[in-house]
Amino acid sequence: MPERKFTVTAALPYSNGRLHVGHIAGCYLPADTFVRYLRSRGEDVAFICGSDDYGVPVALTARKEGKTPRQVSDHYRKVQKADFKGLGIEFDTYGGTSKPPHDEISRQFFLKAHENGYLEKRRQKQLFDPEAQMFLPDRYVEGICHHCQSPDARGDQCETCGRQIDPELLEQPRSTVTGARPEIRETVHWFFLLSKFEDRLRDWIESHTEWRPMVRNFARGLLDAGLPDRAITRDLEWGIPVPLESDPDAEGKVLYVWFDAPIGYVSFTADWCERVGRGRGDYEKWWKNPQSEIVHFIGEDNVVFHALMWPAMLMAQEDFELPSQIPANCFLNVQFPGEDERKISKSRGNAIWIGEYLSSYDPDPLRYYLTMIAPEDQRTTFKFDDFINRNNDELVACLGNLVHRTITFAHKYCEGKIPTRGSISQEDRSRLEATSKLPDIVAGRLEDYGFKAALHEIMAAARETNRYFDMRKPWVLRKENMEECKTVLNVLLNTIKTLGVVAEPFLPFAAAKISSMLACEECEFSWHAAAQALPENRPLGEAEILFAKLEHPEA
Ligand SMILES: [Zn+2]
Repeated sequence: MPERKFTVTAALPYSNGRLHVGHIAGCYLPADTFVRYLRSRGEDVAFICGSDDYGVPVALTARKEGKTPRQVSDHYRKVQKADFKGLGIEFDTYGGTSKPPHDEISRQFFLKAHENGYLEKRRQKQLFDPEAQMFLPDRYVEGICHHCQSPDARGDQCETCGRQIDPELLEQPRSTVTGARPEIRETVHWFFLLSKFEDRLRDWIESHTEWRPMVRNFARGLLDAGLPDRAITRDLEWGIPVPLESDPDAEGKVLYVWFDAPIGYVSFTADWCERVGRGRGDYEKWWKNPQSEIVHFIGEDNVVFHALMWPAMLMAQEDFELPSQIPANCFLNVQFPGEDERKISKSRGNAIWIGEYLSSYDPDPLRYYLTMIAPEDQRTTFKFDDFINRNNDELVACLGNLVHRTITFAHKYCEGKIPTRGSISQEDRSRLEATSKLPDIVAGRLEDYGFKAALHEIMAAARETNRYFDMRKPWVLRKENMEECKTVLNVLLNTIKTLGVVAEPFLPFAAAKISSMLACEECEFSWHAAAQALPENRPLGEAEILFAKLEHPEA
């Protein structure tokens, strides 16, 4: 019997800044939710992420902050790790592309593609800053997008239309180093022959009818337009040197950050395998094994790389498996009280930063809200008022209230134990039946990458259970028929357990409290045991508040 595995990755953040809610909603939260679900099912999962340290973004920040690129990437890498931890986003490993063994594995990727005839050295005209005396790859140049006319396109990609940019075609280009108007000079680069993969990429994408339409349509559109060969080297200092020592043209050149970054998924896996004592070569079980499902969670700006460039790079290696799924989310806008809806923009100071959020609020309400407004098929907006309202009206008033009133009632009137279940009424039976079906319903949504839909199912079940509580009136039964009252409490506690297990991928901190209030062992609180009855007469843990009511900040 072959061993099924899941290799789950979340896009590597550049280690040049803090994380905001858009990053989290885009890929880290859905990836963590998915992985928690798989772990709860007992699946063999590797959850891989790390920082993207090389390339122009980090070098530019270093220039601005008067530091070395390594100082910048080491600093922000730590900040980002703390943000993820604070939100309960738990990677198996969090690597960094400027740490070993990433350089070695990236060189292998380059050399193998070179050996297999997928790289070609070409002379190229490139923008050059005469004041700074340097070539201006990628974000070193900005201008007007030649696709959509957006005024602030960067030399690598236009954030507005998401397309890759040919820097020489930018209108009104300016150097981001000196502001100078660049001139054109000749240089040499190695090109990845993406065009050679068009047919294979098309067949592969057409075979994945289950992908989100946004991902498929975007990739198909680019394929229809024809895939240009891409330069995968740069004239820069900060990066992995081109590993062709015998070629004088390779001097002073490094690998393009978008060539080495996705290799990070593989090199971080290898590093992790080595650190946990399985040996570095064990990464092949995650990347070269047809029984391993490779799932890349990304934001919409990364579709071009993950649906075309990276799979072609894997094809060029000849022995790697291709991704099974590329769940991409759209961008998130933000709206502060009394202001208009806007795109999140670091440079305009227009963002909700995770570090700041965590200094005032708990992680679960943010996880909840970002899932409920998940930009799964279109852009959505983080509205601060709405965040507060949904915390109070849904988490506190529905799920929190259900758990709190049930547990405190059991402490007060059922000796703090899980009461025995006597003969059950029609209402009790239908509540128990609905509860027993919930794990499969939620699993079905999650396996379709419908995170918002899955959470809606859970909250609908919590609302139904509150209705059941109100209808069965245990506070009246307590005086009239204690056996029936105990039965109702038993049904409620068992339903709460199931809710806790299926909510854990979304609300891990609240779920841990539910588990401890019900005094569950770890094995009882897993997906397979979600609908298994709690042992009667077991003492309950202390009652705890799951969610705090939040005040609207004063304007
Ligand atoms: Zn554009």
